Amino acid sequence: MSKDKKLKELVVLSGKGGTGKTTLTAAFAALAPSLVLADCDVDAADLHLILSPEVLQTADFIEGKEAIVERSLCSGCGLCSEVCRFDAFIEESDGTYSIDPVRCEGCGVCVRVCPEKAIKFEDRYCGKWMISDTRFGTMVHARLEAAGENSGLLVSLVRKEARRIALEHEKDLLLVDGPPGIGCPVISSVTGADAVVLITEPSVSGMHDLERVSTLAKNFGIPVFVCVNKADIDITMTEAIKQQVIDSKNHFVGTIPYDEAMVQAQMRALSAIEFITGETRDRIEQIWEQIWRAM
Ligand code: SF4
Ligand code: SF4
Repeated sequence: MSKDKKLKELVVLSGKGGTGKTTLTAAFAALAPSLVLADCDVDAADLHLILSPEVLQTADFIEGKEAIVERSLCSGCGLCSEVCRFDAFIEESDGTYSIDPVRCEGCGVCVRVCPEKAIKFEDRYCGKWMISDTRFGTMVHARLEAAGENSGLLVSLVRKEARRIALEHEKDLLLVDGPPGIGCPVISSVTGADAVVLITEPSVSGMHDLERVSTLAKNFGIPVFVCVNKADIDITMTEAIKQQVIDSKNHFVGTIPYDEAMVQAQMRALSAIEFITGETRDRIEQIWEQIWRAM
């Protein structure tokens, strides 16, 4: 990894929810040098529950278009329903039509065929994004509406804004809480990053997560650090994951034992570093030091 570039970008990933990704992102934030945080887990953002941000700036996130029927103008001819490939139209009891916003893909065909000009074509409001202050630094985060589709654009926007702020204020680190899974949002969160840290659990699905994240990161030429959380739940599987990390030439940075205090910290809106003492905290510190030294 390049040592001459000042701003480093680290993306924290997990294959699925519940592995401790956000808990550890907050812990790393508490240990890191000057940083900006980006919560790119926009479907289930919960970093704010630990960091209690003070929102400074907020903006709407608009993505694509959606059709809306003005039912007072609708004659009930049904042409729109015939041409919609996404079955978005609903026939109401009075014979007029309305549109299910979750099904509407914004293609605009119905708008063109409606003889009564009863269908409006409007910007689709998909959520909000925010710039906030936290005790560890500025955080850029977002809230996706229930009907808003996570295509990765909101993730890109959050990340880009966080990067802009980090560069403007000459920060050392952009720490990204990435989305779970392996789809478009994850790709949007890792392209161009300096490194990925995968938080996994000792389970068969944890092993699969490792394979998938490793393949993805390799495609982008990004180094992968791997940490096993709740490692003592299955020591044999933890060892198998460690071996797989070594075989795949990724970096195994350590294990964290199962610790109820991790959950208690989150419930008190504190990072593990602010709340926990003893072995768990020592392990997290060692893991962070290894990652930061290697970046
Ligand atoms: S095409 Fe227009 S007028 Fe006909 S049912 Fe659809 S919205 Fe109503
Ligand atoms: S814009 Fe396209 S997807 Fe949406 S309701 Fe009209 S035809 Fe269907």
